[in-house]
Amino acid sequence: MKTLAVLTLALTMSSAFAAQDFGGISFHSSVPQEQVDALKIDISYLYQNPVTKSDPEFLAMSGLPVADGANMHNWLVNRVKHVIGEGFELNEENIAVWLFHSFPKTPLPDAFKEVSGKEEVTTIMSNIGTALYLVGKKEDLLFGLKLDGDKVYAKSSRVGILQVGKGLFLERFRLNKDLNAPANSVSRLGTLFHEARHSDGNSAHTGFTHDICPSGHAYEGHAACETSSNGSYSLGAVAERNLLQNCTSCSVPELAALSAGVADGFSRVVDFNLSSKRAVLESEIKTYGELIETYEGMMIGSTVPEIREIFEAEIKKLKTKLDLLSVELEALKDVKPVNLPLDPTPEGKYSELALKKSIKLMNKSLEK
Ligand SMILES: [Zn+2]
Repeated sequence: MKTLAVLTLALTMSSAFAAQDFGGISFHSSVPQEQVDALKIDISYLYQNPVTKSDPEFLAMSGLPVADGANMHNWLVNRVKHVIGEGFELNEENIAVWLFHSFPKTPLPDAFKEVSGKEEVTTIMSNIGTALYLVGKKEDLLFGLKLDGDKVYAKSSRVGILQVGKGLFLERFRLNKDLNAPANSVSRLGTLFHEARHSDGNSAHTGFTHDICPSGHAYEGHAACETSSNGSYSLGAVAERNLLQNCTSCSVPELAALSAGVADGFSRVVDFNLSSKRAVLESEIKTYGELIETYEGMMIGSTVPEIREIFEAEIKKLKTKLDLLSVELEALKDVKPVNLPLDPTPEGKYSELALKKSIKLMNKSLEK
């Protein structure tokens, strides 16, 4: 009887700490069940989503032949394979290290040249797999995570380990009160596709890391922009647009809110040359404006005609210069930003999951 009790306890414990697999994605025991359930609904929605029109930009960026559910799901599970919870700590206990591994001899992204420790990595991206790969490459050590008894090593950014937090499910961010409404699935899937893109790229753009937004941008100073035309913000936006265009059960306000999310994604794509030119002009205009004001102030205080003449001539010169700068700034409005695409091919060792295989995995999960 006692043995049975111990055995039952052991079984209960093992099931409490077991990963849950769904459609090719493994959910670590640290992910709260409510979040696992919501993500399972999202993945099912994605797979079963009846795409009647494929977004051409999504096709071009993802490289998919058709943007239907099965293909989109396959694209996602090739880049997202493990989901870990917010409570999962990157400590000695959870990190596995392997000394013998050779990384490709390519440069690191700028953002990772300065990163010194494993902990700082989490602030850069929630695609932990890519972060582990890059820190490993920098330190010439193969890092991995101990996930429910399995050691998963980051031999490529395609290891696909995402850390998912409460933020993705918060009620105030929901487009519909119901956590599992299609509009919420579409919005969360946009984020998943964004994170999935961080599993792509090579050399100095491995992981398509974010750039710091330039001055004048709504997210000025934050690492919430990108320079390429096919990075995480763009890909997340076009994937979400493809899904919202095909969402038959989304209401008109929900579609409007989703479109606003897509526009926000595109607003993060910045031509840094163009924005720095604009910033320089704006700062010069400001300086000239202040100088004119100063001279005008001095004019009021001066009664000597000769000095007033000098001030007047100076003001005239400054105003001419100011007009020229304003014309230059105005002309910049017509200059189209140049954002070039980057090669999305990942580096390191990984194997591509075939479409047939991901369909089989998904169908098996749906049958349960
Ligand atoms: Zn990102």
